[in-house]
Amino acid sequence: MYLGFYSQVKKQVSTREAAEHYGFKVGRNGMMKCPFHDDRNPSMKVDQNFICFGCQEKGDVIRFVSKLFDLPPYDAAVKLTEDMGLTVTAENRPGVQPGIRKKAKRERTERQQFEQSVDRVYGVYCDYFRLLNQWAEEYAPRSPTEDLHPLFVEAMHQREYVEYLLDLLLYGSSVVVKLFCNTYGLIIRYSSPCLKWCLISIV
Ligand SMILES: [Zn+2]
Repeated sequence: MYLGFYSQVKKQVSTREAAEHYGFKVGRNGMMKCPFHDDRNPSMKVDQNFICFGCQEKGDVIRFVSKLFDLPPYDAAVKLTEDMGLTVTAENRPGVQPGIRKKAKRERTERQQFEQSVDRVYGVYCDYFRLLNQWAEEYAPRSPTEDLHPLFVEAMHQREYVEYLLDLLLYGSSVVVKLFCNTYGLIIRYSSPCLKWCLISIV
């Protein structure tokens, strides 16, 4: 279960530890001179929390630091985190919300860029697929003895493969599609001169 920021701070540092850290002498009985009233004899008891038998001030470590340095509770908790080197999970910490928002925005931008790149790659392969179908008809040999036209050969070789790639771009899991788009350079290197030209001219 996620603990709130204040709870995380209080769990990691007692008032006594904080008081000692800020230079107060705490006796074995846990008594120290109260910083909140003119205390001649140690009349404040500190352990996890604190209570003063002289001025009746009491509270937890955050209140102690808040009163000591005249800070709002949140700033006191942040000060404790920094001064005592505490580890606090950031999620619900009020001060880091702008960072979370920034992260969400970055993720949104990345997703949009990814979708755009998929659209682009899909468009290129669609054009190429149309071209292959066209070649398959246009350059089909008219007689069994006729030499095969190179574009007809390419159409025969590539059609099925390109159809498979189009399916993959449309229905593949995002991981596969991402991999596909990221290896674009490799695909260009091993594709036919015509597709290479299509890809480079569009990307
Ligand atoms: Zn006091």
